[in-house]
Amino acid sequence: MSNQLDSRWDAIVVGAGLGGMSSAACLAAAGKKTLLIERHTVIGGSSHVFRRKKQWEYDCGVHYMGGCGPGEAVPAVMQGLGLDDRIEWLQLDPNGFDTVRGPDLEFKVPAGWDAYLDSLIRTFPKHEKKLRFYIRVMRKIGEGFDRSSMNLGQGSAFARSSDAAKKVGWAMPFFMMPHAAFLASCGFDPKTLLALSVQDGALASTPLELPVGMAAIFLQDYVGGGAWYPKGGGQMFSAGFAEVIESHGGTILTNTEVEKIIVEGGSVKGVKLKGGEALSAPVVVSGGDIKRTYEDLVGRDGMTDSMAKKVDRMKMSTPLINAFFSVKQDLRKSDNSNYFIIPSWDDAGSLMSLKDMGQRLLKPKGREPVEWAMDYAANQPAYVQCSTRRDPDNMRSAPLGHGVVEVQSLAPYDPAMWGIKGLDVSSGEYRDSKKYLQVKEIIIEGFARRMEKAYPGSSLNVIDAELGTPAAQERFTFTSGGSAFGLQPNWRQIGPFRPGTKTEIKGLLLAGASTVWGPGTVGSILSGVHAASVATGRDLLKEMQSGGMIADRSRMRQWPSDFDPLLESRGSAARKKREAKGRKNSAIS
Ligand SMILES: Cc1cc2nc3c(=O)[nH]c(=O)nc-3n(C[C@H](O)[C@H](O)[C@H](O)COP(=O)(O)OP(=O)(O)OC[C@H]3O[C@@H](n4cnc5c(N)ncnc54)[C@H](O)[C@@H]3O)c2cc1C
Repeated sequence: MSNQLDSRWDAIVVGAGLGGMSSAACLAAAGKKTLLIERHTVIGGSSHVFRRKKQWEYDCGVHYMGGCGPGEAVPAVMQGLGLDDRIEWLQLDPNGFDTVRGPDLEFKVPAGWDAYLDSLIRTFPKHEKKLRFYIRVMRKIGEGFDRSSMNLGQGSAFARSSDAAKKVGWAMPFFMMPHAAFLASCGFDPKTLLALSVQDGALASTPLELPVGMAAIFLQDYVGGGAWYPKGGGQMFSAGFAEVIESHGGTILTNTEVEKIIVEGGSVKGVKLKGGEALSAPVVVSGGDIKRTYEDLVGRDGMTDSMAKKVDRMKMSTPLINAFFSVKQDLRKSDNSNYFIIPSWDDAGSLMSLKDMGQRLLKPKGREPVEWAMDYAANQPAYVQCSTRRDPDNMRSAPLGHGVVEVQSLAPYDPAMWGIKGLDVSSGEYRDSKKYLQVKEIIIEGFARRMEKAYPGSSLNVIDAELGTPAAQERFTFTSGGSAFGLQPNWRQIGPFRPGTKTEIKGLLLAGASTVWGPGTVGSILSGVHAASVATGRDLLKEMQSGGMIADRSRMRQWPSDFDPLLESRGSAARKKREAKGRKNSAIS
C-alpha cells in the first residue's frame, strides 16, 4: 500500500493517539496535506476500545474526562472541527461522579467545590477545620490553573504558568509539595490521608510523588466542571478525527511503523518507514512516546548533548493495569459513579507504613512474583468503572441485563515481577509465560473482589475476565516502561518543566501525554491542537474557543445509523475498500 503513497507531505504525524489524531485533524482541516501513521491495526492509542465474542466492548483509556462541559476547551475543539454533533457528552452523576469506599468508610466526590467540602466534612467531622484549610488551598490552586479560563493557545508555557501563579497567590508555595506531605502537614491521620489521596492514582501517580498542584488541577477539572464520557465510548474520538482528516484530503496509514525521523542540519526532513520507504515533510509531529521519539526515532546523532542529557533524565509515569470483566448483572441501573476501593486499612497505621506499602507493591524489586502478586491482589487500592453504566444506550458495550466493568490500578513495570524477564514484548512472546499467566490469574481474582465492593454480587456473575498488563500497554501503544500517562507528573516534569510543543529540531513538534498540556485524554487532545497551531502559525485553539470553525462541515460524510467507530478507525485503505464494496453492492442491487 505504501508504494502507492505520495512521498511528499505538508505534515506527517507519527502515532495516532489522542495527541497525534487531534493534531492531524487540525492540520488537515487547516489545509495542510497531512499523513497520519500508526503501527497498530486501529487508531486511538490508549483511547482505543477492543471487543470480545461480539458481545463485549471494553474501553481501555477513556473512563472519564474533566473539562468537557459546555463552554470548555474540548467541546470547543469538537465544534471547531465540525464534530460537535457527532461527539456528545454524557455527564457522570454530579452528586458523586467518584465514590471513595473502604472498610467502614464511604464518601462521594460531587461536582462543585462547596459540595465536595460538605461531603468531606460529613465523612470526617472531626477534621472540619483541617478540611476547610485543605480545600481552600486546593481550590485556590485549581481555579488559578483552570483550563477553561486560561488562554491555552497563546504564549509560552512559562508565561501561562506565571499568569496562573499570580492568580493562585498565597497558595502557590504549596504547589510543588508532594500531595502526601501536604496532607500530613495539614494534620490528617494516615487513614484520612489515604482516603483523600487515593484518586491520585487516576493520574498514574502516588501521593508521595504527585505535586499538590497537579492534584488540585485534577480536582478542578472534575470537581470544578464535572466528569464526562463521550457517548459511544472512547473510539468515537478516533472515528471523529479520522472523518475530519480523510474528508479534508489527509491519509491515515495503519499497520505502519515509523523507524526514523529524518533530521538534516538541525531541521526535520521527513520520516523513514520500517521497510525502508522515505517520506518527506517540512513538519513532523510525534504523537508517540517521548523517550522513544528522541532515543529511537531521532537518535543520538540528531540531538545536541544537552537534549540527550535531558532525555536520559526523563522519568515515565507508573504504568496502569486494567482488569476487564463482563458480568451477567444489570449494571445499567447502578449509580453512575466510579469507585475508588481501598481494600483495608492495614497499611494505614502510620505514614511510614503507607510509604512501605507503595514500595512493597509498586517497586517490589527482588520479590518472588507469585508472593508479590498475592500481596498486591490483597492490598492494592483500585478504581472500578463501568462503561455500560456511563453510556447505557451503547449496546456494543454489553447486551441488556449485562455489563462490562474495568478495574484499574497502578502497577510495577518490572518484567521480573510479571514472570516475563528476557521475553520479547513487541512480538507477544511474553504472553505464553506460565508465571505470567499465574500472576495475572491471581490479580484478576483480587480485582474481582474490588469489583464486588463496587457492584455487590457481580463477582459471582463473571462471564469473562482478562487483564491488560504493562507489557500489553507497551505492545499496543509502544510506550517506554508501559506508561499510559507519559512523563511522570513529578515536580521536575510539570508546568514549565514539562516539554512544550516545539523541539530544538526545526519542524519537529511534539504532541501527547508527555507535553505541558498533559497528561490524560484532555491534555493529549489539546496538545495536538497546539502542535497544529505552531505548524500553521495560527492560534487554532483561540479561534475555536471564540466559536470559529476550522473544518469544512460540508466535506464530511453523514454517519449511517449503524455507524461503527471501531470499523472507521482502521485507516484510509480499509475505508476505501469498504466504500468500493458499498458501491459494488448498490450497483448489483
Ligand atoms: C487503563 C487506562 C485508563 C485511563 N483512564 C483515563 C481516564 O479515565 N481519563 C483520562 O483523562 N485519561 C485516562 N487515561 C490516559 C489517556 O488515555 C492517555 O493519557 C492518552 O490517551 C494518551 O494519548 P497520547 O496522545 O499520548 O498517545 P498514546 O495513547 O500513547 O498513543 C500513541 C500512539 O502512537 C503510536 N506509535 C508510537 N510510536 C510509533 C511509531 N514509531 N510509528 C507509528 N506509530 C507509533 C502507538 O502505537 C500509539 O497508538 C488512561 C489510560 C489507561 C491506559
